[in-house]
Amino acid sequence: VTDVGGKTSHTAIVARSLDIPAVVGARSASQLIRQDDWIIIDGDAGVVLVSPSPIILAEYGFKQRQAEVERERLSRLRHTPAVTLDGQKVELLSNIEMPEDAVSALGVGSVGVGLFRSEFLFMGRQGHLPDEEAQYQAYRRAVDGMNGLPVTIRTVDVGADKPLDDTRHEASHLNPALGLRAIRWCLADPAMFLTQLRAILRAAAHGQVNLLIPMLAHGSEIRQTLALIDQARQELDRRGVAYGPVRLGAMIEIPAAALCLRLFLKHFDFLSIGTNDLFQYMYAADRTNPLVSDRYDPLSPPTLRALQTIQKACADTGTPVSICGELAGRPLEAFALIVLGFTRLSAPAGGVGPVKRMILSADLSAARRGMAVLLGSSAGSVRGEIESLARKLNVAV
Ligand code: PEP
Ligand code: MG
Repeated sequence: VTDVGGKTSHTAIVARSLDIPAVVGARSASQLIRQDDWIIIDGDAGVVLVSPSPIILAEYGFKQRQAEVERERLSRLRHTPAVTLDGQKVELLSNIEMPEDAVSALGVGSVGVGLFRSEFLFMGRQGHLPDEEAQYQAYRRAVDGMNGLPVTIRTVDVGADKPLDDTRHEASHLNPALGLRAIRWCLADPAMFLTQLRAILRAAAHGQVNLLIPMLAHGSEIRQTLALIDQARQELDRRGVAYGPVRLGAMIEIPAAALCLRLFLKHFDFLSIGTNDLFQYMYAADRTNPLVSDRYDPLSPPTLRALQTIQKACADTGTPVSICGELAGRPLEAFALIVLGFTRLSAPAGGVGPVKRMILSADLSAARRGMAVLLGSSAGSVRGEIESLARKLNVAV
């Protein structure tokens, strides 16, 4: 239970991936809850109950058992391919934070890792960054752990609510989410970035690796990044160290990038949309600030139209595109995404089963007409309408 944060802040993301119930952004919880209080954390409802009565405790015990039964039921879908009723195949991938998370990704039946957030290897080390060998071993563990399925390794994205705890990273700036984060930090410290690139290229000798670059906004960053990837290959050649081929992808998570897709389509093999950031920047609402993070709905006409534009541009050029923000792991939101035409979703492991069940019950051709009307709406949110559409079509959201 944390006082600060929002649904897509990294504390929530890590808790989700560790399967730990969490409530974030509870504002004054740390003052209201005392040491040794009994509490119930209802992460689904976003509720914390302090000193619950025996009746409430019993009720939550029942809910907990029901959740176990539900989980067991979903786990039976593990080996069922995710295909809609009208035959659209959807690739369901997992987001992981540590190499060991490959176990849960496979356990829920993911067909690969769509986002390995490598920054967690860099954090909490008092500034002693992992060297090439340590990183290579970690990436290789993830690749080996996925038994031949593809692993998308994202280069380090520290900054904002993922600070490195050393002076290299200036978390104290007034707007850290708009600061020297992700690729900007990497380009400012090429030696550090080259170390990571070499480690990822070496891991690619052991399985299918996709290399994903976060927070790119414009051409000069793309050119510098590509040059550094070339340089990393040359350095490995000089040392005579084995490395493998990678498919190169860019995250679309800055509005400017979403508005100059041609540039990205020209240079990259695939795109991955980071809706957590894309929407916080579109709405200028800090994803970690509980006072504003819920002010917009990811199911709003502007966000859905932005996603539709990206999907169409990728479809027109035959470029694979995935969505790796947290919304890909929520059945109702994922329903909207597949209706928009997305066929690759990367979600926290816990979201894969519920989203697969939704996909198995959905008929996209019937839903598309309804969605087209909603995209033209000027309402602040179309969540209720999408939910009604799903219910009318008996989709398991
Ligand atoms: C995103 O921004 O949607 C994303 C997947 O990256 P992160 O949550 O790590 O910023
Ligand atoms: Mg992001």
